[in-house]
Amino acid sequence: MALRKLVAGNWKMHGLSADLEEIRTIAEASRAYPTVDVALCVPAILIERAARAVPGFAIGGQDVHQAEKGAHTGCTSALMLLDSGASLTIVGHSERREAQRENDGEVKAKAESALGVGLTVILCVGESLEVRERGAAVATVIAQLDASIPHESTEEAELAVAYEPIWAIGTGKIPTVGEIAEMHSAIREQLVHRYGAAGNQVRILYGGSVKASNAGEIFSIADVNGALVGGASLKAADFIPIVAAAALV
Ligand code: PEP
Repeated sequence: MALRKLVAGNWKMHGLSADLEEIRTIAEASRAYPTVDVALCVPAILIERAARAVPGFAIGGQDVHQAEKGAHTGCTSALMLLDSGASLTIVGHSERREAQRENDGEVKAKAESALGVGLTVILCVGESLEVRERGAAVATVIAQLDASIPHESTEEAELAVAYEPIWAIGTGKIPTVGEIAEMHSAIREQLVHRYGAAGNQVRILYGGSVKASNAGEIFSIADVNGALVGGASLKAADFIPIVAAAALV
């Protein structure tokens, strides 16, 4: 059976109280596409207000600390995200892997911590342009995936993997259909290798310059089970057509 598509927006460091109205518009418009799971991952400080503004709509975080609690100034635990009203979180986004130097082991611990409290996890992997150009993209991403994904996937545990080529994020460049197909198929194979049949239930999202004009083609690729959307998720006018494209496949 085909997996339900998941279209998640990553608002990054965007979003003030004034933007709650846009979140309401997105949540309301998403209801026209009940076959698609739609979510917005907003700054941690906005989660509680966003979740209150749109009851029943999935609001998520963009990162989580792996520890339950403790001396970790400025960090947010999985339980804190849940307590604020989040139902999911991104982990291992390339911007954090680069700027905060997060490694695969930390990303894995973050994913396990979030799954442990019942949050859905969107775990990001992806190669740099240099790696793509020297023909090592698949091997690099699979090694990254293998080192970052949790030990076990249980039925309760909701894990999604987002393939986000770093060179495609915010650049307007996207891989070819063949390149996306090759990577998603390799990720699926690795998930089945790790989790057995349960690996077929893990959604694999594509992320990197997804917009209304390319979403339909991307969603029609085998093993593309949704998208992680940055810039085009900030406005309902840009984001909802992507959700609509997911509903058509
Ligand atoms: C992202 O940062 O997760 C992302 C996919 O960004 P964009 O859609 O803007 O390329």
